[in-house]
Amino acid sequence: MRLFYLFQVAVLGLLLAVAGCGPEAETGALFARSGLAHEGGGGMTTDTTDPRKDKMTDREIMAVEAPESGAPDQPDKEVDLNYLMGKFDPARHPDFVPVGKPYTHKPGMMLRRETFAAFKKMWAAAKKDGVTLTIISSTRSFEQQKNIWEGKWSRFAAEHPQADARARKILEYSAMPGASRHHWGTDIDLNDLNNPSFEPGGRHVNVYAWLKVHAYEFGFCQPYTAKGDQRPHGYNEEKWHWSYLPLAMPLLRQYSEAVRDEMLRGFSGAETAKPLHMVDHYALGINQDCKPR
Ligand SMILES: [Zn+2]
Repeated sequence: MRLFYLFQVAVLGLLLAVAGCGPEAETGALFARSGLAHEGGGGMTTDTTDPRKDKMTDREIMAVEAPESGAPDQPDKEVDLNYLMGKFDPARHPDFVPVGKPYTHKPGMMLRRETFAAFKKMWAAAKKDGVTLTIISSTRSFEQQKNIWEGKWSRFAAEHPQADARARKILEYSAMPGASRHHWGTDIDLNDLNNPSFEPGGRHVNVYAWLKVHAYEFGFCQPYTAKGDQRPHGYNEEKWHWSYLPLAMPLLRQYSEAVRDEMLRGFSGAETAKPLHMVDHYALGINQDCKPR
């Protein structure tokens, strides 16, 4: 009898081991925590015949790694609007960690723990290839984004007196407060806020070339690529802005389901959020490769 019990335990253990290993299982666990596992990509394209999707699935699987320090296995939480909209202090948030040298030279940088762990691996791999990645902006609060936004709102007033036109101008490169991916601790700006620096002849051309090939291996994606048929709306191209997808994908899904344009308030020009379709055209107006599927 006891032997049979041991046999049952062994079989059960074997089954659990098979079910619990491999990147797919990690993906499942990750998305289950974020409330995405049972949605089957509802609302997003489910075209599995698209070869790009197959490629992306592999990349996504490669991108998903277990958090370095073991994030707590929490049950699904209610969507935290304050977090999604940057209305919290990352320095007091248990999921955020400080980013110091050599990864940044700026004080006060914070990231989600998993983002920073993945970035450190990417940084080391890039370094081996002779490429130096430097974080120049990371998590920004609603208040910090409001300072950026309202500074531009004042500066562009003379040139663009009409509110929608002025907001559109700012939105070329800056998000409204409450609508920045930088609120989430998943997104970073690297090396320089200037596209030509990353292009031939620019001093960071090797940085962008390296990131284009390798960032996916560490879970990072460039959300603001060149505009065109694949990306008709949203911010202009930003070759410096990279996003840690294992966290940012489920957060974007939550954001697009929970936040309405009218909820973006508390700053100059907030009334333009609805006519400019902030959630649909800007939050969701990103590189298809970085979007939840
Ligand atoms: Zn950025």
